[in-house]
Amino acid sequence: MATEIPYKIYLSEEEMPKYWYNVKAHMKTQHPPFIHPATQKPCTKEDLRAVFCDECIDQELNRTDEQIEIPEGIRSFYKMFRPSPLVRAYCLERLLDTPAQIYYKFEGNNTSGSHKLNSAAAQAYYAKKQGLTSITTETGAGQWGTALSMAAAYYGLHLDVYMVKVSAEQKPYRREVIRTYGANVIPSPSDTTEAGRKILAEHPGTGGSLGCAISEAVEKAASTPACRYVLGSVLDHVLLHQSVIGCESKIALEKYGVQPDIIIGCAGGGSNFGGLIAPFMGERLEGKNDIEFVAVEPASCPSLTRGKFVYDFCDSARTTPLAKMYTLGCGFMPSPNHAGGLRYHGMSPVVSQLYHDGYLRAVSVEQTAVFEAAVQFARCEGILPAPESAHAIRAAVDEALKCRREGKKKVILFGLTGTGYFDLAAYKQFNDGAMADYIPTDDDLRKGFETIPKCAVNEGLL
Ligand SMILES: *Cc1c(COP(=O)(O)O)cnc(C)c1O
Repeated sequence: MATEIPYKIYLSEEEMPKYWYNVKAHMKTQHPPFIHPATQKPCTKEDLRAVFCDECIDQELNRTDEQIEIPEGIRSFYKMFRPSPLVRAYCLERLLDTPAQIYYKFEGNNTSGSHKLNSAAAQAYYAKKQGLTSITTETGAGQWGTALSMAAAYYGLHLDVYMVKVSAEQKPYRREVIRTYGANVIPSPSDTTEAGRKILAEHPGTGGSLGCAISEAVEKAASTPACRYVLGSVLDHVLLHQSVIGCESKIALEKYGVQPDIIIGCAGGGSNFGGLIAPFMGERLEGKNDIEFVAVEPASCPSLTRGKFVYDFCDSARTTPLAKMYTLGCGFMPSPNHAGGLRYHGMSPVVSQLYHDGYLRAVSVEQTAVFEAAVQFARCEGILPAPESAHAIRAAVDEALKCRREGKKKVILFGLTGTGYFDLAAYKQFNDGAMADYIPTDDDLRKGFETIPKCAVNEGLL
């Protein structure tokens, strides 16, 4: 049976999903709504319309429709880089000498190098359809900015990317890819916005932060006609777009009669993990399967495993609505030696709620163990994984080794979210033996927790 499964399973164009999967349609407990920080009341559609595209807001608030159609205009773009392959990791299985079957869904086969293009495509399409002429966003490491620049070029939108200044300097090639696709890269903080000028005045010479870049991008969108802000993870509509990963995986596995026992994904803001598990989780919530879902996070940024389930700002500049999620506090900063990405302080409200209700498990892994798994994987499977993706590899390898010890033939599926071509500085650190682990102490975490807003909606939670 096992040998009948090809090394790579692709879907034909006809087999590709025509619908995204909205897991919220099956959730028994919905996550609570966004709260406006000034009024402490739930955000209205109107509050959100000033910042986000209309269609994305409708999707954000949709709790009833399991199937949401992927418009033809998005499917035709998806066809340029999808379906992504589902790979049977025969070489890794052999190396680990495990009775487990290991599969991975590889999302790094497009120029932006990650799964982020799935939502970038959708958000750019809806912006264009609404008659907008430009969009803004922030980018840290650069994967999101790259993905969005490709989507903006395809749909003919102007794009301003506020890129954290240190990243723009440290990752000049990312910046060049973004510019090549026609987007405008603005190192943040910049003098083009009120928020940027304020930070520059207070902290001259600062390298910037994601929180500051978000504030600049939001301000730019709010103050520019026919312009909106788009976000690359965390929000429900981004998870919805990423469900294309899970839908393709499910169709591909069903083609060969394979049912996964464990599904593993790395979790930064939670969109790729939430998208990978969506259709499987929907069935689990209906009592149709007994799959174990595992979110993997860095030990140095442990929002699920050590965070609090409270209302917090989505950005460190404290400008966004409050979301109820597992969080380390919007002011949390991972230790400076953290090299593997997934550094967001919070976690998708959908993933947070599912975790809180006991439908998924979270594990944290240390970065040297993550890079060991990355190197092992690269040498046997050939793909150079993104450090973020390597968190999932680490957990999958650990599960496969457990299967060997226990003599169990489990089927493991994990998400390989991207390639590591732009992360070679981190690989260099690892190869030079210069990478260290740092697990934050309770005292370190306390400093972050102190930045959680002490407001009415958090009363009794803090
Ligand atoms: C952004 C990114 C992640 C984190 O994704 P989330 O959906 O926010 O959890 C993981 N892997 C790669 C390669 C990324 O670029």
